[in-house]
Amino acid sequence: MRDPFGRHIHYLRLSVTDRCDFRCSYCLPRSHRDFVTPEQWLGAPDLRRIVAVFASLGVSHVRLTGGEPLVRRELGEIATALASVPGLRELSLSTNASRLATCARPLKSAGVTRLNISLDSLDPDNFRALTGGQLVHVLAGIDAARDAGFAPIKINMVVMRGVNDHEVDAMVDFCRDKGLTLRFIETMPIGTGGQQAQRHFVPLAEVEQRLRGRFRLSPAAMHGSGPARYFRVDDSELRIGFITPQSQHFCDTCNRVRMSVDGDLYLCLGQDNRVTLGSMLRAGASDADLRAAILEGVAHKPQRHHFLDAPGAILRPMSALGG
Ligand code: SAM
Ligand code: SF4
Repeated sequence: MRDPFGRHIHYLRLSVTDRCDFRCSYCLPRSHRDFVTPEQWLGAPDLRRIVAVFASLGVSHVRLTGGEPLVRRELGEIATALASVPGLRELSLSTNASRLATCARPLKSAGVTRLNISLDSLDPDNFRALTGGQLVHVLAGIDAARDAGFAPIKINMVVMRGVNDHEVDAMVDFCRDKGLTLRFIETMPIGTGGQQAQRHFVPLAEVEQRLRGRFRLSPAAMHGSGPARYFRVDDSELRIGFITPQSQHFCDTCNRVRMSVDGDLYLCLGQDNRVTLGSMLRAGASDADLRAAILEGVAHKPQRHHFLDAPGAILRPMSALGG
């Protein structure tokens, strides 16, 4: 699929729940109540059908995300159903790892190929203040993922001034010691949590500059579908990446679309244009109808987000679409 700006769309991020066992301050506010009701959730057979239509249109990578995908009870069933869709080469998962200790092996067996794990702090008190969760479970989840043979495992750290920016160096050491890839992410003004986090915004060029005082960073390639700029750290195996949606947006190379748990297809994380594939499905749409609706959506994919000029525009929390 090509959009009007010539971008090749081959990556679908699939939110399998908008719920989460954490409440990261920049993502899902504690006051949030507007969750999708279970009757609206798409089950494994419907997801498989929709993903098969996407795959027939050239989508080769699906990422399971959320909310927290591991709180969805049918996650194993969903992963198994999607892993065998013809044409799909990658089935990856983004998780906070709180429940990964027991799920890593079953997910690998179900066909999940790669893992991204959120980790914003290595200090148990700071971690709890930031996420509402317990660091010890996340660390156990990371170890379980390594033991299950996932490689590379990418760690995502949203860097915030006065919150966790003092932990950047500790996170580099942790990832080097554990054989993990580390990606720093800038906050995005999505939902009220994301908008409030803007006061802690750190342009990542600042972090890069600081790290160059300690390490030699040489440009490196990394397998994946994302917008991170990667560097090799000294002569070690460690790769670090920078994801800069605000200070240096990467909309020109956007290759993805996103679907919510109730089947709304969003053409851009920073816009509200969408195609209601879930309701079409419930109303008896054929695969040809779904295909036509997806193509029509991609034909209207917005050129770029407007985080800088309209920072209050997106009211849905990041947990609704999974980043
Ligand atoms: N629960 C899973 C997790 O935390 O990895 C998957 C969903 S989470 C919404 C996906 C990613 O979005 C995480 O890396 C998280 O840190 C990031 N994220 C959430 N809100 C954000 C915001 N306002 N700005 C930047 N990144 C954000
Ligand atoms: Fe949950 Fe992930 Fe959002 Fe944190 S970032 S609240 S773990 S969905």
